[in-house]
Amino acid sequence: MTNNILMSAYLISTILFILSIRSLAHPETARKGNVLGIIGMLIAVLATLFSPYVSDYLSVLFVILLGGAIGSFFALRVKMTALPQMIAAFNGLGGLSSVCISLAEIVAGSDMLLENALGLIIGAIAFSGSFVAFAKLQGILPPKSIVFPLQNFFNFILTIFAICLCAYFVIGKDINIFYALALLSLILGLLLVLPIGGADMPVIISVLNAYSGWAAVGIGFSVNNILLIIVGSIVGASGAILSYIMTKAMNRSLLNVMFGGLGKNNHASNVNDSLQKTPKSIMPQDAAYLMENAHKIIIVPGYGMAVAQAQHILKTMVDDLHKKFDVEVKFAIHPVAGRMPGHMNVLLAEANVPYEDVFEMNDINREFSTADVAFVIGANDVTNPIAKTDASSPIYGMPILEVEKAKTVFFVKRSLASGYSGVENPLFFADNTFMIYGDAKKVTEDIVSVLERD
Ligand code: NDP
Repeated sequence: MTNNILMSAYLISTILFILSIRSLAHPETARKGNVLGIIGMLIAVLATLFSPYVSDYLSVLFVILLGGAIGSFFALRVKMTALPQMIAAFNGLGGLSSVCISLAEIVAGSDMLLENALGLIIGAIAFSGSFVAFAKLQGILPPKSIVFPLQNFFNFILTIFAICLCAYFVIGKDINIFYALALLSLILGLLLVLPIGGADMPVIISVLNAYSGWAAVGIGFSVNNILLIIVGSIVGASGAILSYIMTKAMNRSLLNVMFGGLGKNNHASNVNDSLQKTPKSIMPQDAAYLMENAHKIIIVPGYGMAVAQAQHILKTMVDDLHKKFDVEVKFAIHPVAGRMPGHMNVLLAEANVPYEDVFEMNDINREFSTADVAFVIGANDVTNPIAKTDASSPIYGMPILEVEKAKTVFFVKRSLASGYSGVENPLFFADNTFMIYGDAKKVTEDIVSVLERD
């Protein structure tokens, strides 16, 4: 294959990747986006395989089969609720591959010292940082901030040290310095993510995603592969943009998310007072009578709905309320509800909930005061008013869905347990709140059986 054909194939791949990301931005076109991305990657891999740069086909085939088998094994088994950990793990592997390539290049005597060093540093931080994010999301490490005194200062000194080592390596080309840089960057990745609390994990996964893209850019320059540079830039830029959008939605700055988590575990002082009270509870059947007599209901889905896979029966409940009882029903989606960006939108789309019934937080918050019922199903942190009042809370500053403004609030969950952030929710004890204890799917089925009675 001539270089011109190779470059043309890379150009087609790049266009397909850009179209893919564009399509992924909406649930309606997301499947098409996936297909475009797959075709783009297939063209890229085939073009590279038939380029003059590849000669050892046996080794390439071996790693393709090995990587493909491992990737398919996990992708086929992963539950929807565990996708964030999988994304974290895949980000980490992206970072690790940059580390391996830069090491191989330097050992082979490459002259691209700065490019390799940058690929190594960013890739190693992405790898070890993603490893911590994975462990926190998987429950191997506690999701809370893990901190020690002067952590930010210590990290700052390590960063300066890493920059000096990088400069020293580029000037002196001492391979031992390169190894030291790898070790230091791995430690830095661990230390940067350990203090980040559970509620901020979505943002940090997106930041690490951007890191793995930028590491690929460094490696792209060092192995002189234009597609790697372009695709790495796309991943780096889209990860950075997503991080920005998420921090904006949480009313935080990126610096605050990355360095503000320290010492934030002593919260909930004023929550404990309310915990002395006993919350009111109601049976699903009674909730059904109340809802069929309502004019307007706003449903707030959260992680528990995903765990219970309650979206399909929820759609039946909404149809019944709307068609049989003429109730206006809307869905309110918080940007970090569930365990990955867009988690709730995907589940509701899967259950064929019309897009026009699904509203983003900023578009629906003012409507809670006009609703008879806020039906909170498996959501918790995204409704917690502590985020507005307790500056020591890890969710402080995150805008919330103001469900308490509805006439009546139903919380469908199994207990009074806190959500992902570990912060108790005082709303459970509010005068207009009723708990409906139970699994989200079972409770909704019980409600539907009342709505569908003859
Ligand atoms: P939360 O984690 O705050 O709360 C979920 C609630 O669901 C729990 O309190 C739990 O209570 C309940 N629950 C669990 N299983 C069931 C079930 N089978 N039936 C009924 N209820 C159930 O979820 P939210 O969606 O409100 O908030 C998301 C949180 O996750 C935020 O803190 C966010 O920052 C974080 N996060 C978000 C990510 C994202 O990208 N969206 C990624 C990683 C973290 P109980 O045990 O009593 O049933």
